[in-house]
Amino acid sequence: MTAKLITDKLHRDTLAVRQAVERSQYGENSEALFLTSGYVQPSAEASARRFAGDEDGFTYGRYGNPTVASFEQRLAALEGAEAAISTASGMSAILMMCMGLLKAGDHVICSHSMFGSTIKLIGSDLAKFGVQSSFVPQTDATAWKAAIRPNTKLLFAETPTNPMTDVCDIRALADIAHASGALLAVDNCFATPALQRPMALGADIVMHSGTKYLDGQGRVMAGALCASHDLVTQTFLPVLKSAGMTLAPFNAWVVLKGLETLDIRMQAQSARALALAQWLQEHPAVARVHYPGLPSHPQHALAMAQQSNCGGAVLSFEVKAADADVARQRAFHVLDTLQTLSLSTNLGDTKTLLAHPASTSHGRLTPAQREIAGVSQGLIRVAVGLEHIADIQADLDRGLFSL
Ligand SMILES: *Cc1c(COP(=O)(O)O)cnc(C)c1O
Repeated sequence: MTAKLITDKLHRDTLAVRQAVERSQYGENSEALFLTSGYVQPSAEASARRFAGDEDGFTYGRYGNPTVASFEQRLAALEGAEAAISTASGMSAILMMCMGLLKAGDHVICSHSMFGSTIKLIGSDLAKFGVQSSFVPQTDATAWKAAIRPNTKLLFAETPTNPMTDVCDIRALADIAHASGALLAVDNCFATPALQRPMALGADIVMHSGTKYLDGQGRVMAGALCASHDLVTQTFLPVLKSAGMTLAPFNAWVVLKGLETLDIRMQAQSARALALAQWLQEHPAVARVHYPGLPSHPQHALAMAQQSNCGGAVLSFEVKAADADVARQRAFHVLDTLQTLSLSTNLGDTKTLLAHPASTSHGRLTPAQREIAGVSQGLIRVAVGLEHIADIQADLDRGLFSL
């Protein structure tokens, strides 16, 4: 099915609630959920043309679905991309990207403060298939440039990072990638297209974990890649067809509806995150706060320019402590004293979620790797939700006050 809207004539706010495949014959106003694994073909000739890619039309659930297509069209419109292709999770989107773009002997550059599973997938799992990788400091563009090899095919950046909120310069990395004939992919999970549109800054591919802010209410797993029409249809779709990391229609429907409120959620949650960061910064039990919206953040100016003048909804902070053991005990105390907010390693929910990265998302790293990533035992990550700011502060203050 083709898009019913001419995307460049409407504003992003409009596309967020309107971009989708055509309505069915019933005229449903809310996009339909098509639960079907197969499609009846109008004729054997049409079926042959569809399988050959010479005619639009759905053939089999692994290859495509109207609800899934609506999500892809809407996300592509928000990112300003020609096309998008969705997957069952964020990690399977990264796998699809790597399987599509890389072969044995190729080289990828990432930052060493990427999402933990991304480091594992690219640094270990793909290494088994002969893909080489280098991990460089997130904010040091010269280190990214120095890591380029003749066989470098992809630079993959995540900004801001989890949990330290380090910000890298997308335009600078795009220039470095393109000067050597490589592509730049950006994991836009934290900022989302509501705050940051990497393609406008020169990125070739935007990767999403739809599980986070696109859904926005912590319900389903989803992933996606946004890119040129050619990359999507020639490079990524063939991987989807053979490897089958297909997004389920129900999950696609949930994230499709999530996109309708993405902008207002990101604005409201980011406003609370800024207020919380300012409050934590003044708290006597807190040693440091990491939040791109604070002038004390090392890349504050870059973040404001690159992220629509907004710090985003995730921050982290370190409790004051004399040594690492005490720091861990104190961080655990703050988390165990919570009554309203959730101790949960997910993020991107309307409920505020707190996590202790050193013992969870970064628990598998060696102490040396954790130190490079800046993840100390006293560090707590807060993915700020939509509760009243006074209730968020009160719940944190209960533990911080009694340290
Ligand atoms: C969660 C996350 C992923 C992985 O997404 P899943 O949907 O959990 O597979 C990738 N990158 C970042 C930054 C994430 O937060």
